[in-house]
Amino acid sequence: MVFKRSIYKSPAQLRLMVAPGLATAASLDAVRDALVAGVTTLQLDELAEQAIIAAGGMPNFKLEHGYHHTICSSVNDEVVHGIPGSRIVQPGDIVSIDSGAILDGWNGDSARSFVLPDPARPELVAERQKLSDVTEQSLWHGIARLATAKHLNEVGEAVEDHILSQGEYGILTDYIGHGIGRRMHEEPPVFNYRVRAKGPEVKPGLVVAIEPMVVLGDPETYVKDDGWTVATEDGSAAAHWEHSVAVHKDGIWVLTAADGGAAGLAPFGITPTPIA
Ligand code: MG
Ligand code: MG
Repeated sequence: MVFKRSIYKSPAQLRLMVAPGLATAASLDAVRDALVAGVTTLQLDELAEQAIIAAGGMPNFKLEHGYHHTICSSVNDEVVHGIPGSRIVQPGDIVSIDSGAILDGWNGDSARSFVLPDPARPELVAERQKLSDVTEQSLWHGIARLATAKHLNEVGEAVEDHILSQGEYGILTDYIGHGIGRRMHEEPPVFNYRVRAKGPEVKPGLVVAIEPMVVLGDPETYVKDDGWTVATEDGSAAAHWEHSVAVHKDGIWVLTAADGGAAGLAPFGITPTPIA
């Protein structure tokens, strides 16, 4: 695979990606702490923005042409790119929050899904929580594979294998992960499923946003009339988890996890190494 410019960052550049990763993580922590039935997605957006600014960054989603918010908030049948607004989060909702920060010209990008309790519908909540858990675990399988992979597209194999081992889930193919650095979306593409190509070599300097998007039904999507929100054709619920991950000379480091990914990678026997 040939790219216009090098996809590999220098050690000094990798060090600059730590702070925007932590600012992004802080914004998702702020959303998590405030997410209860009754809040609006715009309130969550404001909290995320405050957290990023407090960490010394700026919301990088606002740099996307025509987008004016800090987060994307995608609820139930919405997979990604939902626009925050007056929508009130309801019991039993599955809410996917995608956030990103830019700091000193470098970007972070991360997403988590949350399922709100609903005592009246325990089966729906359990089904959605499992969907979110499978998606999150598929992300950690992908990150763990990145730690040992020769080529990037091994990540997608690990993500897909885990999801399909857990039940009848749909994996989105309309949207994928990406390289990240001075721009939020860079080469190379990061697939969440098997592809024929091997992808670029995994070696120090590679930084990628891995972001599986998984649905309870069919993975076909459409874009709603707002021009942004991606939703499932069949109305089935969706989950989205994402981390920005750096490969460096001493190992890997999950830039958008406060612990560098230590907790998520522990079950795989992998210890992330801070970027020196
Ligand atoms: Mg994202
Ligand atoms: Mg992304």
